[in-house]
Amino acid sequence: MRATLKKLFESRCPNCSQPLISERDADRSLKTCPQCHYKEETYLSLGVTVVYNETRNDFK
Ligand SMILES: [Zn+2]
Repeated sequence: MRATLKKLFESRCPNCSQPLISERDADRSLKTCPQCHYKEETYLSLGVTVVYNETRNDFK
């Protein structure tokens, strides 16, 4: 529920609270932390969102 509410407002990194950088192409929307803590990838055609959060997953 909290995650849903958060999406209505400006997206910010849960780790450093900086605004996320949004990118978008034909079938994908991407939001990334400038410090690379967090990445949110939405596949528009599939309606699937994949979240990479440094506090929970290791990713580079
Ligand atoms: Zn961050």
